[in-house]
Amino acid sequence: MSHSLPILIIGAGPAGLSLALALARQGIPVELFEALPELSQEIRASTFHPPTLEMFAQWGVADDVLAQGHRVERLLYWERQSRELIAEFSYHQIAADTAYPFRLQCPQAVLTRTLKPLVEALPMARVHLDHRLVGMQDYGDYVTAELETARGRVTIQGAYLCGADGANSTVRKTLNLGFEGMTYADRFLLVGCDLDLRPYFPAIGPVNYMYDPEEWVIILHLADIVRVVFRLRPEEEEAEALSEAGIRQRMARFLGQPTDFTLKSSSVYRVHQRVADSFRVGRILLLGDAAHINNPAGGMGMNSGIHDAYYLAQALGAVQQGGPDSLLDAYSNTRRQVALESIRAYSDKNYADLAARDEVYRQQRNAELYAAAADPAQARAYLLRASMMAERV
Ligand SMILES: Cc1cc2nc3c(=O)[nH]c(=O)nc-3n(C[C@H](O)[C@H](O)[C@H](O)COP(=O)(O)OP(=O)(O)OC[C@H]3O[C@@H](n4cnc5c(N)ncnc54)[C@H](O)[C@@H]3O)c2cc1C
Repeated sequence: MSHSLPILIIGAGPAGLSLALALARQGIPVELFEALPELSQEIRASTFHPPTLEMFAQWGVADDVLAQGHRVERLLYWERQSRELIAEFSYHQIAADTAYPFRLQCPQAVLTRTLKPLVEALPMARVHLDHRLVGMQDYGDYVTAELETARGRVTIQGAYLCGADGANSTVRKTLNLGFEGMTYADRFLLVGCDLDLRPYFPAIGPVNYMYDPEEWVIILHLADIVRVVFRLRPEEEEAEALSEAGIRQRMARFLGQPTDFTLKSSSVYRVHQRVADSFRVGRILLLGDAAHINNPAGGMGMNSGIHDAYYLAQALGAVQQGGPDSLLDAYSNTRRQVALESIRAYSDKNYADLAARDEVYRQQRNAELYAAAADPAQARAYLLRASMMAERV
């Protein structure tokens, strides 16, 4: 019976919309349900790595996405206190490895607004806003989703149900799956502004990581905004940190003097490293933040959710064509291993480097980065890893 039914996707974030696109392009009917009445506006991810852009190209949407973002071809590492530039990596070192040798900076809310109409233009896909999943059942050869809508509850049948419903996933919780890992004591303060940093850091680049044991800083230049991320210490009051006076004081401390800028946005967020016990239970699958969350140092969370969508669409497409059901187990096992071994390890290391206190470790970290940036082969290996392409080395 399942063959004629659509695949149900829960959540219209980057992962859910990517999965809908990838499945519908294969001619597989999909119904995508989003709880909110409009796509989330939250200021979150903004980094798209080369493999993600390659996937967009395979789905025929790369030009649409590239038109919305800002290409970044350099990564810079600094010591915050001394304002010393430790290392600069140029993406031209991986020009032979990918058609997209850069990072695209584009807000996640712009990506989802770009993808939604492209998904809706496909004859096999429908997107339903204001449809919140409240229950689900797996009957062995089909599934049902119970959804709360403005017009009351509806129950929809599907061949499979894919939970792309974010870190607090109802799908994962209904399956009673563990979500083991940890929550960091530090929080991140994200400030959107129009600050010109060139007078303070003449060599400032588009993406900058500034190391400091007390208060590391990340600076990202997007098309029309500068994002500055600060570490918030565990004892800091969130309301005080978010107040305009608090942000202006923090910025003045960072730059050594009060500076004029327009404050455009501010938010505080908690950071976790967690991975679900499995990404598959019967006909129900997990992807994106519903399946795994990591600290954002390195910008891999959203990217890996889109990569999940790519591999899950391949597996579901093959199974719908008569391929073995074990392909879905392989999806679960492989993507879980990537989340545990590759992304967790990399984002943990990035975070440890940002905040390292030990002087010997700091010296060694800086020496290694300097040496890597100075040697083309090492610089290439470094960028392939930072770009989630290391397996191609
Ligand atoms: C401040 C910040 C900065 C970040 N920076 C980066 C970065 O630079 N690079 C990077 O790769 N990652 C980054 N991340 C992580 C990134 O934002 C997430 O990994 C990404 O949003 C995950 O996408 P998703 O589609 O899995 O989930 P989400 O984006 O959370 O989308 C889930 C969707 O499901 C919907 N939903 C939830 N429950 C239900 C329900 N019951 N029924 C129907 N719909 C439901 C939600 O409304 C939402 O629209 C950052 C995160 C934060 C917080």
